[in-house]
Amino acid sequence: MSITPPRDPSRLGERTRLVHAGRDPSAQHGFVNTPIYRGSTVLFPSYDDLQHRRAEYTYGTAGTPTIRALEAAWTELSGAAGTVLTPSGLAAVTVGLLACLKAGDHLLVTDSAYRPTRVFCDGFLARFGVETTYYDPLVGAGLADLMRENTTAVLTEAPGSQSFEMQDIPAIAAAAHARGAAVLMDNTWATPLLFSAHERGVDIVIEAGTKYLSGGSDLLLGLTSANARYWPALRRTFDQFAMCAGAEDVFLALRGLRTMSLRLREHERQGLAMAEWLRDRPEVARVLHPALPEDPGHAIWKRDFKGASGLFSVVLNPVPEAAVAAMLDGLELFGMGFSWGGFESLVIPFDCKPYRTATAWAPGGPGLRFQIGLEDLDDLKRDLDAGFARLRAAG
Ligand SMILES: *Cc1c(COP(=O)(O)O)cnc(C)c1O
Repeated sequence: MSITPPRDPSRLGERTRLVHAGRDPSAQHGFVNTPIYRGSTVLFPSYDDLQHRRAEYTYGTAGTPTIRALEAAWTELSGAAGTVLTPSGLAAVTVGLLACLKAGDHLLVTDSAYRPTRVFCDGFLARFGVETTYYDPLVGAGLADLMRENTTAVLTEAPGSQSFEMQDIPAIAAAAHARGAAVLMDNTWATPLLFSAHERGVDIVIEAGTKYLSGGSDLLLGLTSANARYWPALRRTFDQFAMCAGAEDVFLALRGLRTMSLRLREHERQGLAMAEWLRDRPEVARVLHPALPEDPGHAIWKRDFKGASGLFSVVLNPVPEAAVAAMLDGLELFGMGFSWGGFESLVIPFDCKPYRTATAWAPGGPGLRFQIGLEDLDDLKRDLDAGFARLRAAG
C-alpha cells in the first residue's frame, strides 16, 4: 500500500491511469485529490533563488500545482511532450494556431471546422497577415495539391463540427509533413481516449475540456498538447499570452478526468442506440454518425478510432421551419443550447450552408444535432416521439 504515484504508468491500463494521473497524495498530507492552489505571488527563499528564478513555481501565470497536475495527466494520456491549459476550448485552438504561424504564412483549415475557429482565422489571423484556405474535409492525400510554398500549418477536425465527416488524419499528416508544415487537430469529439491523435501524426492536439472532461456543463477549459517538435513553441506562445485557466475549473476538470472513460462509454452506448432509433423514423432522411456501418466515414472511423462519443446529427426530410420549431419547443427532457459533453441531453438545429466555402452543404432537409446524455433511453425516446408528432402536425 502506497500513497505515492505508480512508478511506471506506461505499464498500466487506461482506466488505471485515469485514476492515478496528476495526483500525489504523499505531497498533500495524504489527501486523495490535488488541492486548489490560488495565487499570483510565489515567495522565493533567498536573494540568489530569486535572481536565478530557481524554484518549481515562480508566479501564478506560469503555473500552480493544480494546473501542473492536469497538464501532466493530459500529457501522459495523450502521449504528448507537454500540455498547456487555457480558459476555454476556443483559446486552446487559437494558442495552438499562433504557436506555428507568422505574418506571410498560409494556413489550410478543414471546411468542417468549428465555426468560431473560422471566425478567428478570417478575422484575427487575416488582420495579422496569415492567409487561410478552407479545404474539403474528405481531401485525404489530395491535400498535397493544396500545399503552397508558405503553407506552415494544416488544421483538421474529425468528425466535422455538426456535419460529422471523417477525415483521413494519417494521410493528411503525411502530405503536410512532406512539405514541412505542422498538423493540428481539434480532437474534442473523441478525446485522447477514443483517438490517439499524436500517434497518428498530429503535432498539436486541441481539446475543449468544457465538453467531456468536465462532463457536467459547469466549467470552461481548453487543453492544447504538442509533440516534442512543437512543444517549445507552444509553451513559449502560451507564456507570452499568459492566458491561464482558472483554479476552480482545473480542479473540476481533474475530478471529471477520473470518471471520463466510464462516462464516454455510456455516451457511446446511449448515443448509438438513439442514432439507430432515429434512423428508423420516417421523419429522418439520414443519420450522420461515423459508428453506423452505412456512414460514409465508417471505414476510417473503424480503422483509426477506438470508439464513439454521444454527439451526432440527423437530417430531417423537408419540412417547414415552423414544424421544426414546434418539435423543439415542446420538448420536456432535451434542452436547447450550445456546447455538449455534460450529463444532460441536448438538441440544436444547424445549417452549415451560410459559412462553408470549399464544399457545398445541401443535405436536402433541416439538420438537428443531438447530444445524448445519461438519462433513461426510454424517457428520451418518448420525448422525441412526442416531438415528431408535433412536427408532423405542423408540417
Ligand atoms: C465547444 C468546442 C470548442 C470550444 O470550446 P469552448 O470551451 O466552448 O470555447 C472547440 N472545438 C470544438 C470542436 C467544440 O465543440
